[in-house]
Amino acid sequence: MELCTYKIIIKGVVQGVGFRPFIYTLAKQFSFNGYVYNGNFGVAIVLNATQDEVETFITNIKKEQPPLASIESIEYAQVKQESFDDFTIKESASSEVGFTNIPPDLFVCKDCAHELFDPKDRRYRYPFITCTNCGVRYSIINNLPYDRANTSMAKFTMCKACEAEYSDPDNRRYHAQPIGCYDCGSSLSFLDNNQAQLSSGNREPIALSIEALKQGAIVAIKGVGGYHLVCDATNDVAVQKLRERKHRSSKPFALMLKDIQSAQKLAYINDQEAQLLSSPQRPIVLLDKKNDTDLSKSVAPHLSRLGIFLAYTPLHLLLLDALDVPLVATSANISDDPIATNIEELRLMSGVYDFILDHNREILNRCDDSVVMVIESRIITIRRARGYAPASLKLPYPLQENALAVGAHQKNSVAIGSEESVVLSPYIGDLGNIASIKSFERAIKDLQRVYNFNYTTILHDAHKGYDSTRYARAQDAHKKEVYHHYAHILSVMAENGLKNQKVLGVAFDGTGFGEDATLWGGEFLVCDYAGFERVAHLKPFLLLGGEAAIKEPRRVALALLFDIYGKEALEIESPTLSSFSKEELKTLYTMWKRGLNAPQTSSMGRVFDAIASLLGISQTISFEGESGMLLEEFYDETTSGVYEYDVSRGIIDISPMIISLTKESDTKIAVTKFFNTVVKIIVNIHRNYKNLQLCASGGVFQNRILVKLLLKEFPDLFMNERFPPNDGGIALGQMASFMNIPKGS
Ligand code: ZN
Ligand code: ZN
Ligand code: FE
Repeated sequence: MELCTYKIIIKGVVQGVGFRPFIYTLAKQFSFNGYVYNGNFGVAIVLNATQDEVETFITNIKKEQPPLASIESIEYAQVKQESFDDFTIKESASSEVGFTNIPPDLFVCKDCAHELFDPKDRRYRYPFITCTNCGVRYSIINNLPYDRANTSMAKFTMCKACEAEYSDPDNRRYHAQPIGCYDCGSSLSFLDNNQAQLSSGNREPIALSIEALKQGAIVAIKGVGGYHLVCDATNDVAVQKLRERKHRSSKPFALMLKDIQSAQKLAYINDQEAQLLSSPQRPIVLLDKKNDTDLSKSVAPHLSRLGIFLAYTPLHLLLLDALDVPLVATSANISDDPIATNIEELRLMSGVYDFILDHNREILNRCDDSVVMVIESRIITIRRARGYAPASLKLPYPLQENALAVGAHQKNSVAIGSEESVVLSPYIGDLGNIASIKSFERAIKDLQRVYNFNYTTILHDAHKGYDSTRYARAQDAHKKEVYHHYAHILSVMAENGLKNQKVLGVAFDGTGFGEDATLWGGEFLVCDYAGFERVAHLKPFLLLGGEAAIKEPRRVALALLFDIYGKEALEIESPTLSSFSKEELKTLYTMWKRGLNAPQTSSMGRVFDAIASLLGISQTISFEGESGMLLEEFYDETTSGVYEYDVSRGIIDISPMIISLTKESDTKIAVTKFFNTVVKIIVNIHRNYKNLQLCASGGVFQNRILVKLLLKEFPDLFMNERFPPNDGGIALGQMASFMNIPKGS
């Protein structure tokens, strides 16, 4: 058969994962002549073969692909005849356009970890050891194609030994862009809290950090996508000091551990959770805490859950190898600001840490730790960042135009989209202050730069007060606003690849601007990609004092009591009322009566808050979702029962539940019946839309009791899994509202 010239294009995560040497070796086995190269779109192969050979070759590529690769598509076509003497790896071409998947930052591979602790290896204890199969990627990429010159490794000139490995197609470090060694790569420094350098090199800074951590110091340690604040998790004084300095009263701290065995000492871990912990993505996994550990009580006060991740850089491994205690490793930021990525940003919080363990490989793309949990064998992503970002998603239909989606306000994440591809930025953080807005703008620029991307339409939330909306409205582009809860449901539809169809969406979250200009959050929407109809929702109540009611669940509870009993509510015996002074109660009553500084909401998130207050579980909260987490602690699967509620014309009135619940003497029974009631509400509303698939989204669906119970009723429930159900998924939903839906579908 005659040989023709074919071009094969492979899309997906195919750069920075050892794909070209893999193709090289495979092509040699087939005795093909031609070449392989990286382009903006992915990997391309040009070779001479028969059509049958090309097809077998493609089958083998799919079967044998490198461990970190993930192929989205392979296409081939016959091109102009050429002749070649050999098969070669060509330098990258950057002239071709399109999205390519950028490889995420991954953990040290087995081979590198082995070399790290092998005294005979030339990279023995070198804290930046890496190869083609592991290490940093996204966080160090300036622009595509992914070549060393386009990364923050550009300033490090390889020594002869590294160069030789880099140029040898048979070497594990062939074209591994971030490689280096003691002679030529990145190095560490150890600084005090005035940023004065105390030591540099690759050995002493580690030894000094270990000593400091042993003494109970807080050390800011530069990781992959930002700095961590680290201290000994078994040292009460150190952990408490970190809480005070970081102004973080009770939100749990994540723990960094050496290996799965150390994790098993602290938490109950099933197979799926163990797999996640040890995966190359190394996310923080939320787990059930064991009792009687030597952890400080201040790590996760009042909660039976722990966030744990395993060391994900060689540097972390070296530290934990010497320390052998669990370490608190929390993002270096103030409250929910973006994580610090350089020494200047760290300077703004110099009172928080005692020392810095720094290095000179620049972080170009900020990337916080990812957070996941497993509920009934579904993996729920709470924060999508390091290890996963930026990964793209294929939409069920192409976009109308190139678009930028700016997300919402809290847990912001942005997205760019072209044709059927969407790329989401990693988690940015809560907007609302100058630092976070800067970081938001930077994330947009990063995506545009890295992907060489321009947009003509900008998609934003309908809330005019959000910083993201303000940014969108100031840009010179077509604008489209997307209602918050509609975006939540669309994110589920898009993530699950649903074709255009009507679904029943249940969007339960804390807040979001609705069509009637009130705050929504307990919504049932019948929707498809073209639009939505609000078919049912919680009966609105008042947020006494606006923002203040979000920090103080007791204000929401009080409003619900006023709605039921009017002024008589003031005579009720309730933990909610006894938490206020007489004066405060009087003021709040007036506020309720006149509707002053008391916006209306139908938020389910706020109902969770109110229940926690009415049952005396918490009157004020220090982080979002705290009351939901506390309620989980009281759920008792050995009891049952539900409360009454009314539905009329799609308005769900929970007053009957509030009345009975406040009379319940056992908190566990009350909480359990509350969860059962929320699920029953969903089941009941769905009865009217029996032929529609149920899609659930919104921050409330991070509550594992609720999700567990709901999955029992709806085993086929569509939810967010790879993308967060909280506002971190809004940008994806905004994108999904902007697709070209074929007529008649
Ligand atoms: Zn490796
Ligand atoms: Zn070297
Ligand atoms: Fe939301």
